[in-house]
Amino acid sequence: MNAEMINPSAAGSAGRPSTPPSDAVIRLDRVHKIYRTGSVEVHALHGISLDVHRGEFVSVMGPSGSGKSTMMNIVGCLDHPTRGQYYLDGMDVSTFSRNDLADVRNGRIGFVFQAFNLIPRTTVLENVELPLLYAGIPTTERMRRVREALAAVGIPEKERSLPNQLSGGQQQRVAIARSLVNEPSIILADEPTGNLDSRTSVEVMEIFQRLNREQRMTILIVTHEPDIAQFSGRIIQFKDGRIHRDQVVESPQDARVVLENMPVVEEDIDDDLGHS
Ligand code: ADP
Ligand code: MG
Repeated sequence: MNAEMINPSAAGSAGRPSTPPSDAVIRLDRVHKIYRTGSVEVHALHGISLDVHRGEFVSVMGPSGSGKSTMMNIVGCLDHPTRGQYYLDGMDVSTFSRNDLADVRNGRIGFVFQAFNLIPRTTVLENVELPLLYAGIPTTERMRRVREALAAVGIPEKERSLPNQLSGGQQQRVAIARSLVNEPSIILADEPTGNLDSRTSVEVMEIFQRLNREQRMTILIVTHEPDIAQFSGRIIQFKDGRIHRDQVVESPQDARVVLENMPVVEEDIDDDLGHS
């Protein structure tokens, strides 16, 4: 897998062509972000340049306040760069209107958050179905995709459950299923394991690894944990709004193998016996 990867030292180098290569899913070209609140300006990104190719699995690391979420928000079409270009699937989306940006986002990006962000008092099925309702997908196709996504994250039996009846790990699986139903080209996950215990974190990474390997899904995760970053193929370190390091992970950890050597937590045992 690593052999196909781009040379990360080329990312961010000056003098490369300004047109995007066809296989770059994400290209940031000297992107700046300046937040203005009243008279205060925060320069959150200082000219970030970055290429991510289809099928890459990237971890974004760096101290709090270094610009990771700002970069993810721009990549996720939730926000515009103040300056610089962002090409998504070859399109210069930095100039798109809010509405066009929303269309691109709904069709091509799946989001996973630290706090899961499921709708309370709404079944798992309905939570996962929601992006498809917005997209106007007919009922039969909606149900097919919801069930496929819940199977992909390993909780096909939970479709009638409510979020508060699920463990944290199960809620994050639902959130991943929700991120998948629109068949996005990219999954963006901002600290997806931040609220999970060690084993559950590795289980979530196993899902991401499987999506990355089997469906060639492009995945970017923000994480503070070096052990978690070792499951990805590339680590980008942010510092003070700049890319400080960008390196290939020579031999990524295999989450499936790691899980085999980890103790099973009680919550999972309860689940297997069906009394949760
Ligand atoms: P990280 O995710 O690495 O912790 P952020 O991208 O959230 O960092 O923040 C980078 C900088 O931008 C920080 O100084 C933060 O306070 C500031 N910032 C982030 N979002 C906003 C906002 N909406 N308005 C003003 N400043 C912001
Ligand atoms: Mg953040």
